[in-house]
Amino acid sequence: MATVMFDKPHLVSTDETAEQAALYCLGDFSPEASKRYEEHLSSCAPCRAEVEQWSAVIAELALADSGDVPSKARTDFLTRVREEKAKGRHWARLSSVIITPQLSSRPVREKNRGQVSAALDQLAIRLSGIEQELLDAVVRAALELCDAGTAGFSVLYDEEQVFRWDALAGALAGAKGGTTPRTWSPCGTTLDLGTPQLFSNPSRCFEYFADAPQQIFEGLVVPVYVGRKPLGTLWVASHDDRKFDKEDLQVLQTFADFCGTAVGIMRGRHAKQDSDAK
Ligand SMILES: [Zn+2]
Repeated sequence: MATVMFDKPHLVSTDETAEQAALYCLGDFSPEASKRYEEHLSSCAPCRAEVEQWSAVIAELALADSGDVPSKARTDFLTRVREEKAKGRHWARLSSVIITPQLSSRPVREKNRGQVSAALDQLAIRLSGIEQELLDAVVRAALELCDAGTAGFSVLYDEEQVFRWDALAGALAGAKGGTTPRTWSPCGTTLDLGTPQLFSNPSRCFEYFADAPQQIFEGLVVPVYVGRKPLGTLWVASHDDRKFDKEDLQVLQTFADFCGTAVGIMRGRHAKQDSDAK
């Protein structure tokens, strides 16, 4: 990645100084570039202030360790953060509902890998069927194995810039077909960050959840990709004091990976059938 270095201290923060600080905090600089940037920091107060802000934001989102975040996701995220930072209040609200780092400190419930692999075997049988039925079966399995209140699959519709709840199981199953905005939702934030995220009382930030028939206390959201293209998210929500842990994340991630691969295979097969029919 090309890095711009500064030869004299800045008078004020600019978009450029903000971006450099963000990239530095994300660990995107080479060791040499880091060293030169740190030398600059020692004489530049505006850049030091930027670094302080960014490191707080990034630590909060537990992004520092996620070296596997695709760079496109990072850029999108940085753009979004800059927009949200400009809106100030919005950003503060968003960072207050993301509690992903808590996943690392919570006690982990007993693993049940046998049940997970049995569920995957059942799901694999559906590979020859249709996509909707597969997604329906995946959310039912996620609901059960994560002991959740609701489980859902939100499909990203790029053109409309929305996520649609194409598959739902559990307490909010009646909301199937509902949508949330691409730019302002737990699913959107999760895709921006490119890593699973845990949300606490998301209605404090995403006000539209306040109208849900059951209050959402926690939401664990995992991005789903077909190849490199985001398909949407797989998620579980709790409507009581159920708190999700690393084992839930593992289960959900397993199903999310399966979904990405399965949908890729199914769509590939349809595309082939379509072209064979021509
Ligand atoms: Zn500077």
